[in-house]
Amino acid sequence: MICNQYLENFIKCLAKEEDSFTLMPKAFAEFGRLYQVASLQLDFSVGETRLVRDGVQKQVMLYQGEGEPAELCGYEKHFVTGESGVANFRVYPTKEKECFSDEEKNDLELLLDIILIHSGRWRLINLSKYVEVTDILTGLPNSRGLRARIKEMIEGNTLAAYNAYYINLSRFSLVNKKFGSKETDRIIVRYCRALKEQLEADECLGRLGGDNFFALVHKEKTDAFLKLLSGVSVYGLQGGEETSVIVSAVAGVSELDETMLLSGQIIDDCNTALNIAKHVEKKPYVFVTDEIRMRSYKQKQIVSGFMEALKKHEFCVYYQPKVHTENYNIVGAEALARWIQDGKVISPAEFIPVIEQNSMICALDFYVLEQVCGDIGEWLAKGIEPIRVSVNFSRKHLTNPNLAKEIMSILDRYETESKYIEVELTETVDEAESDMLVAFMEEMKGYNVSMSIDDFGTGYSSLNMLRSFPVDVLKIDKSFIDNLEENDRIVLSNIINMATELQMEVVVEGVETMQQLEYLRENNCRIVQGFLFDKPMPKEQFERKISTGNYKEEELTE
Ligand code: C2E
Ligand code: MG
Ligand code: MG
Repeated sequence: MICNQYLENFIKCLAKEEDSFTLMPKAFAEFGRLYQVASLQLDFSVGETRLVRDGVQKQVMLYQGEGEPAELCGYEKHFVTGESGVANFRVYPTKEKECFSDEEKNDLELLLDIILIHSGRWRLINLSKYVEVTDILTGLPNSRGLRARIKEMIEGNTLAAYNAYYINLSRFSLVNKKFGSKETDRIIVRYCRALKEQLEADECLGRLGGDNFFALVHKEKTDAFLKLLSGVSVYGLQGGEETSVIVSAVAGVSELDETMLLSGQIIDDCNTALNIAKHVEKKPYVFVTDEIRMRSYKQKQIVSGFMEALKKHEFCVYYQPKVHTENYNIVGAEALARWIQDGKVISPAEFIPVIEQNSMICALDFYVLEQVCGDIGEWLAKGIEPIRVSVNFSRKHLTNPNLAKEIMSILDRYETESKYIEVELTETVDEAESDMLVAFMEEMKGYNVSMSIDDFGTGYSSLNMLRSFPVDVLKIDKSFIDNLEENDRIVLSNIINMATELQMEVVVEGVETMQQLEYLRENNCRIVQGFLFDKPMPKEQFERKISTGNYKEEELTE
């Protein structure tokens, strides 16, 4: 190298954190003069990649000197970049200089090598920054990108112009099942493109993961955007044929204003409203209200306090008897978790849906199982013959390949015989989850633990479950007997008959009236669970109940 101190400046200049293409000319400026370069040009191109949708095409004049270029005496240097792209440098000396000496050529080559290494590094740094804030499948902002976007709006005082939408696609697992995961990905991309087309440059659509999206849309477009969410037609390819898919969504909507200062809070509030829309009000959208904000705040407190509460044994198990319809004998019980906080009993309806959103529910289910095994041990020690107790296991466990073994290791530790335990899981529509559910049920069957399907009839795959799952007990959802209308009666009696013929035990949940009980008895239902007999009760009370062993008809209160 002719001049080392220039080289040092050159590298220092390139190392600054600005756009690489603007730094390169600055870095080269000193050398250009020194080597009497008339022009140095870079043609750079990288094709489309998963990360960069349209590829990169750049033509940059890295240096333009004062003299005329001696075009016949220039030389070109051609590089292949890491992403199968190309970089082509063309360097011309001035006419006065005519040509570069061998030593100067070596130096120029070295400089071009450095520029190339530098731009490769710079692209990598930028791609990793991009990946941090971008959902790769759709190219939309991800959760972090959305938060950054909202923060910009808060800082720019523009938030009040928009409504925020937490969007969840309806029954999207059915699309997944029909088209397979690859085509479903493409359907998601097409759907996003369709939504994006309706948005202006300052509005925003992002993907929070899976089938959850988030949008910031001008307030005056609220009706139009909600209408769009109610159904967008995109196509999906099935066996090479285009099929139309109507993608509809449910949304939690927040009317933003300038008092809102936390991006995370805005997203959480919308999420709470979405959950209410989906699970409580069963409507296509719900707007965030003060009450919802309070609920969202409480949910945060549940999540942050849960693990500590579990450690402090604030959870306890209540038991609800399962009763025979002919003789009112107690033939089993369901273990139901209760959170006792400052002497107040918190119902699972408040905390289960919240902790079910992450894996915390799994810790609770194992905790409940341990308590149940411990209680059964105590009853045996007292000479009370225990009855089979069913324990709820969230579907969140299904991705754990060791679930059956972990359950059995708890039973072993407490020396609980498997005949005393039943595992309740709700039905599922997801194909992958179904496979895991069958595998788990079969493994449990090998250990002689009964498996029951909870809330049967409320999912989408009920009949399929009857056909191909190793089910021991079907727990029919309360909704079937709430009104006992004609259709419910037909469906209910047929499910009971079908399940009985398939050697399954049937339990109907939520029996509150004598009329319901009589109807069930007449329709061959042998076991029921419900407030007509008892609400879930603490262990001590339940212990007294099973010591007596059965209910008397005259004691039953509606
Ligand atoms: P589930 O497993 O379907 O439990 C039955 C629910 O119905 C219980 O509500 C019970 O109190 C209620 N129930 C029973 N009979 C009647 C009746 O006659 N009328 C009415 N209105 N309700 C009745 P609970 O205890 O509030 O639990 C709600 C849900 O929370 C449970 O539904 C279950 O899905 C979940 N859960 C409770 N404990 C646990 C647990 O330890 N782990 C898991 N994963 N989920 C749990
Ligand atoms: Mg249950
Ligand atoms: Mg149930």
